Amino acid sequence: MSFCRRGATRFAVAATFIAAAAAVSGCGTASAVAGGAYGASGHRVTVARLPLSGITVGIDPGHNGGNFTHTSAINSKVWNGRAWENCDTTGTATDAGYPEAQFNFQVAGYLRAELIRAGARVVMTRTSNNGIGPCVNRRASIIDSSHASVAVDIHADGGPSWGRGFTVLKPVADGPNDAVIAPSSSLAADVKAAMLADTAMPVSDYYGKAGFKNRADLAGLNLTTVPKVLIEVGNMRNAADARMLTSPAFQRQVAGALLQAIVTFLR
Ligand code: ZN
Repeated sequence: MSFCRRGATRFAVAATFIAAAAAVSGCGTASAVAGGAYGASGHRVTVARLPLSGITVGIDPGHNGGNFTHTSAINSKVWNGRAWENCDTTGTATDAGYPEAQFNFQVAGYLRAELIRAGARVVMTRTSNNGIGPCVNRRASIIDSSHASVAVDIHADGGPSWGRGFTVLKPVADGPNDAVIAPSSSLAADVKAAMLADTAMPVSDYYGKAGFKNRADLAGLNLTTVPKVLIEVGNMRNAADARMLTSPAFQRQVAGALLQAIVTFLR
């Protein structure tokens, strides 16, 4: 792929063709044009190559809507690469009862749609919000076996009510993920930058440092063989964050930020 210099092509959620983005930014369009074709009228028309053609992206929307009713199943233990971990958890919720699993799935759906519009193949670890699991090790293997170029785990946190903001969780080398530690760190920086540019959610003031946190206790990060981060988009237990997290407009902004981060990462 060929993109204009970093930051020049702000890949708006609505911009589906790189040629359109290039035209807006004033960058050259030659590299965006894969070739020509002849329309029904016989006139030659320009065919723009989609910016993520040939790219596979993994999305793991954390938890699942049915987990609350099947606690014994999701409490079974799975090996996360370093230790035994619960198969899955229920996730948190806002004080008003909006479940994290639903938030994660909404953002994942918006992101999936944008990625497909940009030409990517998308692999999801779950395709509904009324099921159970899958277990966290299975979520990792679904994305690993897809040979995705990049992946994101989407979550929201249940922190102290006074705390606000997002944190990007990064893998720690443990064997299986050794080859993707550096690119995952780069992806984390891209996610942080895009979140700050495209949303009003601040960096966390209660968790991690400067928006980042290394985590060695999560299957999704321990077992990944593709560049991956987990984002806690905000704190569902904080009133200001909860207002944002439950807003479809904000959920779309987060999806747009993640799309931008993915495009930047792959550049
Ligand atoms: Zn979660």
